[in-house]
Amino acid sequence: MPTGIKEDLDPFDIAQKQLDKAAKVINLDKQALEILREPMQILQVRLPVKMDNGETEVFTGFRVHYNNARGPTKGGIRFHPEESLSTVKALSAWMTWKTAIVGIPLGGAKGGIICDPKKMSMGELERLSRAYVRSIGEFIGPEIDVPAPDVYTTPQIMAWMMDEYENIVRKSAPGVITGKPLELGGSLGRGDATARGGLFVLREGAKKVGLDLSKATVAIQGFGNAGQFAVKLVKEMFGSKVVAVSDTKGGIYAKDGIDYQKLLDHKKKTGTVENFPGSKNITNEELLELGVDVLIPAAIENQITRSNADKIKAKIVLELANGPTTPEADEILYKKKILLLPDFLSNSGGVTVSYFEWTQNISGFYWTEEEVYSRLDQKLTESAHAVLDASEKYKVDPRTAAYTISIKRVADAMKLRGWY
Ligand code: NAD
Repeated sequence: MPTGIKEDLDPFDIAQKQLDKAAKVINLDKQALEILREPMQILQVRLPVKMDNGETEVFTGFRVHYNNARGPTKGGIRFHPEESLSTVKALSAWMTWKTAIVGIPLGGAKGGIICDPKKMSMGELERLSRAYVRSIGEFIGPEIDVPAPDVYTTPQIMAWMMDEYENIVRKSAPGVITGKPLELGGSLGRGDATARGGLFVLREGAKKVGLDLSKATVAIQGFGNAGQFAVKLVKEMFGSKVVAVSDTKGGIYAKDGIDYQKLLDHKKKTGTVENFPGSKNITNEELLELGVDVLIPAAIENQITRSNADKIKAKIVLELANGPTTPEADEILYKKKILLLPDFLSNSGGVTVSYFEWTQNISGFYWTEEEVYSRLDQKLTESAHAVLDASEKYKVDPRTAAYTISIKRVADAMKLRGWY
């Protein structure tokens, strides 16, 4: 498939290509497609923030509402030095398909601020978080748009943002944001929800290809929120053996398996997973190409591209990261009969428990951890089956199959509203 032309890695171009491909499969109405190809609203803000050295630094932030036909929009906020409007637009589109695939009554949105949180003090992060909410205050709300954490944002940041929002509206409004600390109305089970939800999807995918997860080897790219809990839970839930893990600096491989708690302690002490005793250092590229049963990209976009897709040896790719595989790589993996469990299905556990948090905040009635897990299992299992069935029905890769379900749900809602 390599065409000789440079592969287009722009996240929003990729999101549009994926949508167009699925729209063709279900012969989606032209007017519906026209609406679905772009976000409904984009807000860009400039945020002057007093830094600890007394000088003012001006940051750029975004909030994008992709589509709210199915309910208030929902999506995380990223703090990242390479944040861009294109990434935020793509992520807001994927949030729209994500809330639709799990059938929760919400639309899709995303936010981001171009900043390097690793170089900022707690005070600077708090002032930046509050400035962002002051700027986008009218653009969010429990019945408008509900943000959440994403890359490099934390429950503490959500707490500051909720507090600032409540100062603006002068009333209690915990449902304005999810991923909050438990003390402020967060939900039990939110911390590991993305990884746990993904593993429910993996369990169903493994049944489909006849893979015994209790004997499976696993490689995980990324050791942040999604990746860390994946390392921990894949062993706890299925007894699988994690043989490789990586972070920004590089990766490690240990044939006999990696102990989660020891690796976590090592990362806390040294700042990286590299040089973990009993393992050998490998690169992120090598990790992706290992001969494991399950590969879990849980870091960033565009990791499996047409340059390395042919070298992937895993039987199943479980995408916990958003957008780790390009459209050209998708086709290569599908031809190789590798089962790719697509991002907006596999990582929808986070938004599903965020939705549980929002409903608990609105009703003021809080659930036990067991209730959260069992409702999450039910939602993700149903959604995984719907996607695997659609993939067989239309004879398309699971990502395109997932799109066919989501875009039909959003298009139906738009039709009923009279948007086309
Ligand atoms: P995080 O910031 O907690 O962790 C990111 C991890 O990726 C870190 O370990 C970092 O070292 C690693 N990383 C960054 N660049 C890398 C590179 N070039 N190569 C290898 N590793 C690299 O973020 P997170 O919340 O775990 O999110 C990871 C991915 O999962 C993102 O794509 C995010 O959008 C997606 N996601 C997260 C959630 C959630 O609830 N946390 C929900 C849905 C999707």
